Amino acid sequence: MAKKSESSRVSTDIRYDKDGKQVSYLRVPNSRDNSGWGTLLMPIAVIKNGKGPTVLFTGGNHGDEYEGPVALLKLIRALEAKAIKGRVIVIPGLNFPALMAGTRLSPIDGRNMNRAFPGERAGTITQVIAHYVQTQILPMVDAAYDLHSGGYSMFMTPSVMIHYLPNKKQMAATVEAMKAFRAPVGLVIEELDTEGMLDTAVENMGKVFVGAELGGGAVLTPETIAITEAGIRNVLIHFGMAKGKPETAPWRGRRESLVMETPDIGCFSMAMDDGLYEPFLELRDTVAEGQKLGQIHYPQAPERTPLVVRAGTSGVLYCRRAPGRIEKGDTLAVLAKPSKTW
Ligand code: CA
Repeated sequence: MAKKSESSRVSTDIRYDKDGKQVSYLRVPNSRDNSGWGTLLMPIAVIKNGKGPTVLFTGGNHGDEYEGPVALLKLIRALEAKAIKGRVIVIPGLNFPALMAGTRLSPIDGRNMNRAFPGERAGTITQVIAHYVQTQILPMVDAAYDLHSGGYSMFMTPSVMIHYLPNKKQMAATVEAMKAFRAPVGLVIEELDTEGMLDTAVENMGKVFVGAELGGGAVLTPETIAITEAGIRNVLIHFGMAKGKPETAPWRGRRESLVMETPDIGCFSMAMDDGLYEPFLELRDTVAEGQKLGQIHYPQAPERTPLVVRAGTSGVLYCRRAPGRIEKGDTLAVLAKPSKTW
């Protein structure tokens, strides 16, 4: 029998304190035209063996990012309770309606899950899911890994990402948790718009939060899946929950984990006009300040000279625009620099 909670409209038959592997659903009310008493059944797994840390893995926070969901579905099938100490909570599709629709935002209420925290008990479906995670799951968690990717609009260097935190102890633990994943890049970043993010929700509780950006273009590749799966295993080893030797998965012929930062606004290049974007560089290419990153063509004016996009600083190409069609204000490129601090 699913347990009804006073504090959330989401119910579940999962018992978070029970040893063993449970694979079930979060039941989210979804009354609609063709299903008056309808429920959104959102997969969740809890794999627990005795005492130890609790690590939360989420994927599908944005529905067009596939490394997280696929690696987590594989984890749910493969991981047995006896292989770990502690508790692993897995939600492969955090914005499940978006994952099923292949869209970044929820097709039900149009909301961005990563701007919905701390959520609302009586809100829209995205807010109700966020509220359940905020109030029922995060209090149990020691560390959360939210597995993103570049989605439809961006290609990212497979990476894990953390924020600068004022609490030194929390920052040190978070840096170690980032490095433990052994992604090709660990990025320490200051984001301008953090309101409503799962990241912020976990960080504000004083816990360890690591985001990941594992690929992009709304496509999966063998390399990015392998990096994701190795990262998950490495994390379980890092927290003393699983035995084994951490491994660095290869990316583009290299096995390395660099720590990088985006120290100034010149790292971010945006489109200053509408058009068709022709990139000149690949991810991981080294860039000098002022170097041409690409150019914007004007499809309605063949005689017009393309607008050249230049690097605002030096660095390594960390992220670039995926689709060719662009609008003014789209992010075209992000440059990162090796960190001297971390
Ligand atoms: Ca994302």
